[in-house]
Amino acid sequence: MLQENRHYLLHSSFKEIKQSGLAGTPNEFVTMLLNELPETSSLMMPAFTYSFKKSAPGYEIFDVVNTPSKVGVVAETFRCSHNVIRSCDPTHSFCATGAHKNYFDQFTITNAPLGKGSILDKFAQMDNAYVILCGTDFSSFTLLHYIEYLAELPWLKYNPWEYLGVLAETVSQRGTFVRTEIPGCSKSFTKAEKILVEYIAVNSIFHNTLRIVTLNVQETISLLLPLVKSNPRLLLCDKGTCKPCDTRHKILDTL
Ligand SMILES: [Zn+2]
Repeated sequence: MLQENRHYLLHSSFKEIKQSGLAGTPNEFVTMLLNELPETSSLMMPAFTYSFKKSAPGYEIFDVVNTPSKVGVVAETFRCSHNVIRSCDPTHSFCATGAHKNYFDQFTITNAPLGKGSILDKFAQMDNAYVILCGTDFSSFTLLHYIEYLAELPWLKYNPWEYLGVLAETVSQRGTFVRTEIPGCSKSFTKAEKILVEYIAVNSIFHNTLRIVTLNVQETISLLLPLVKSNPRLLLCDKGTCKPCDTRHKILDTL
């Protein structure tokens, strides 16, 4: 799965991994990946915590060392593994290991957590950057949030989670930070799959029931960016089916 001179961002579903028999525990799976990772490559996983400030008291204060990630047991096991470093972003941190030192600045905190200057931005600009979806569908394909940023969509500066009491701020042990571009709903990122499979070489391999999809980052951006720019609704849920996506439809309707 992991080749020389590549930089990987991996999203995974342990339920699917276990069902396929590839690994029995998250630890077994992560150990397998770390053993397989060539010295010239690096491996990154999300460690998102979504630690936004809320209008109600009692919200989480992000602590880079102790706040567990909320994106599955594999990512959390990876975060706690030897030689894995975590970035400081209080809502959308990443973890990485391997030949990552040139681009993975763990102290990076940007107002747009998946936009300009973010870890994802640096990752996307690297040669040989690949995303692996291991048992997940395309709703886990975080790179598509970055493409929304590149497309400069008109709703980027609006907070789609306001109805849940989520504020455009985050509090960590390093202080309070403003969030100018809050990633929205990703349920309909699944709509990108058909386009990507049709137009670029999407590498899919199977281990029994487990589907492992590898996508080249630059190819994905080149294909999808013009499409998202010309149709900002492309990756949104249909109108009337999803509150955060509806806030974005509303903004587009006023243009
Ligand atoms: Zn939605």
